Amino acid sequence: MSKTSNTHPIAPNFRIGTGYDVHRLVEGRDLVLGGVKIPFEKGTLGHSDGDALTHAIADAILGALALGDIGQHFPDTDPEYEGVYSIDLLKHVASLIKKNGFMVSNVDATLILQRPKVMEFLPEMREKLAEALEVSPDQVSVKATTTEGMGMTGNGDAVAAQAVCLLSTF
Ligand code: MG
Repeated sequence: MSKTSNTHPIAPNFRIGTGYDVHRLVEGRDLVLGGVKIPFEKGTLGHSDGDALTHAIADAILGALALGDIGQHFPDTDPEYEGVYSIDLLKHVASLIKKNGFMVSNVDATLILQRPKVMEFLPEMREKLAEALEVSPDQVSVKATTTEGMGMTGNGDAVAAQAVCLLSTF
């Protein structure tokens, strides 16, 4: 019996991906993060709703599938995506997971912003993101941190988000 392969014949196939996004914070825009509208004096500038968290997660999934990035799938020059609710874009990305024979094992994401405090909104974000991905909220982690007043997120100019996603075949 050959011992040359360490791959079990029915072992699941795993794919991992990372995503990162930044949106400028400006007056006169809504602040939508993880599909949740958060009361604040500023919002994220973007062709879509500017939901940096949902964009980072979508990019992590597309990365895991080696299918490019959301800029390629939803061009910001296309009027169809103007003001679009990014959770709807994530639903489309979720359909690509299925189409390629994978399912979400888990997502872990971090929001990076100084203000507003978003901790109380994190459970609702997890619910919204999990619903879009058709998984349980316990498969979607969303954390938040500041950069202690430093840099573009620290001075309130921007909201950033990063995410990692693990996909498996079963
Ligand atoms: Mg974006």
